[in-house]
Amino acid sequence: MSKVATFERGIHPKYNKELSSGKSITPAKLPQRVVIPLSQHIGAPAKCEVKIGDEVKKGQVIGSPAGFVSSPVHSSISGKVIAIADFPTAVGRLVPSVVIESDGKDEAVSFKENPNYMNLSADEIKAAIKDAGIVGMGGAAFPTNVKLSPPKEKPIDTVILNGAECEPYLTADHRLMVERPKDVVEGLKIIMRSLGVNKGYIGIEENKPDAIAAIKSAASGESSIEVHTLEIKYPQGAEKMLIKAIKNREVPSKGLPMDVGVVVQNIGTAIAIYEAVRFGKPLIERVVTVTGRGIKEPRNMMVRVGTLLSDVIDQCGGLVEGAVKVISGGPMMGFAQWTLDVPVTKGTSGILVLSEEEYVSSEEYFACIRCGRCVDVCPMGLNPSMLSILIEKGHYEEAKDYNLYDCFECGSCAYVCPAKRPMVQFMRLAKSQVKP
Ligand code: SF4
Ligand code: SF4
Repeated sequence: MSKVATFERGIHPKYNKELSSGKSITPAKLPQRVVIPLSQHIGAPAKCEVKIGDEVKKGQVIGSPAGFVSSPVHSSISGKVIAIADFPTAVGRLVPSVVIESDGKDEAVSFKENPNYMNLSADEIKAAIKDAGIVGMGGAAFPTNVKLSPPKEKPIDTVILNGAECEPYLTADHRLMVERPKDVVEGLKIIMRSLGVNKGYIGIEENKPDAIAAIKSAASGESSIEVHTLEIKYPQGAEKMLIKAIKNREVPSKGLPMDVGVVVQNIGTAIAIYEAVRFGKPLIERVVTVTGRGIKEPRNMMVRVGTLLSDVIDQCGGLVEGAVKVISGGPMMGFAQWTLDVPVTKGTSGILVLSEEEYVSSEEYFACIRCGRCVDVCPMGLNPSMLSILIEKGHYEEAKDYNLYDCFECGSCAYVCPAKRPMVQFMRLAKSQVKP
C-alpha cells in the first residue's frame, strides 16, 4: 500500500540536495589519527578501557558502558593510543577522548558472524546491538538497545523507519536506501523481532523516487512491511511527525513515541543494527554527507568515527574561497563550528559548508512584531513568539506553562521569523535553566 502522507503545519525550505544526492557513497581514506570521544551518546560517558601506549585493533572496545543508559565505544582503526584527554566535539562540549595514531595496517579484532540471525531471541538481538555500541544515528544518539527495551506498561505494536531525511542538503540516508535497500529491510525486520512487533513501516519523502523504488523492491516479499510516500515538508522526519503521518497517532504533550505504541529508528541505524547482528560489526564508521556551496567537491563518504572534520573536508577538495560557515549536521538542526579539529562521531550525519551567498547572518535580531508566522508553522502547535518573549525576559519557569519541553528545536519558527529572532537558541537557553 502506498499513499502520500504528512502532518500539520511545517515549512518548505530550499532543499539543495542536488549537490550530493547523485553521488554514490565512497570510502574516506584511512585516517592517520583519530580522536574518539568516550561520550558520543545520550547518557553516562563510557568508562575508558585503554591507557596511553596500548596497541589497539579496529573494533576493539576502548570504552565500556557506565550505566543502563550508556554505550560502549570502539576503536575505528588499528594503532597506538597516544593521548587520553578532553577534546572539543562538534556540539561545543569538551569530552574525554582517546587519541589513536594509525599503524596503517587497519587490523581488526575478529567479529562474531551469525548467518542465522533471524533465529536469535529478542534479548540476544538487544545484547548484540548493545555490544556493538549502536546509538541513534539521526543525531539524537540515544542508545538503541535502551530504545528497544520499553517498560512493560508501554506495549509496542509498530516500528517506523525514518527515510524522510527532511533536513536540507543531507543525502546520507537517501544514498543508503538506494545503494543498500536490502540491508535496510533486514535491519527493520531485526528491530521488529527484538520488539515482538509484526508491523513495520518505512516513510520516505516524495523527492527521493529512486529510494522509494529501491526500498519497495527490496520489501516486495515482506507482507509485514509497508513503504509510505511522504509529502516533502520539514520536519517530516521528526518522530512525532512521522507517527502522525503514517499512523495518525498523536504523541501526547511531554510524551514519547512509546506512549502511542511506536518505536522510530533512522535508516543508518537500521543498517548498523543489521551489520551488528548479522556480522558482529561494531559502530565504527558511518556515512557523512559533505556538502554546501562552500565545499569544492560535495560527496557522500563512509568515514571512520574519530576522523577530524578538517581531514574529511580536505578529501573533498577543501573549502572554496568565500566559504563562511561550517555546520556539523544540517542547516536546521546542526551545530555551527568554531574549529575544524573536532571529530566525526556516531551522530554526525553531515558536514555542511555554506558559501557567502547561502549564509544568512543571524547575529542581529529584532523585537517580535507579533506577525504570527511562527505559530502558523510550529509542527508541535506551540506559541514560539510567546516562548521567545518570556525567555528573552528570563521568565524560564513561565515558559514551561507554554510547553517549552515539547519544542524539539526544529528551527521552523526561526526560519520564517522576519525579526530574525534566534528561537532555537532561546529554547536551548531556557531548557538549560529549568528542568522539565
Ligand atoms: S523550534 Fe520548537 S517552537 Fe520552533 S517550530 Fe520547532 S518545535 Fe516549534
Ligand atoms: S515570526 Fe518572529 S516576529 Fe513573527 S510572531 Fe513569531 S517571533 Fe514574532
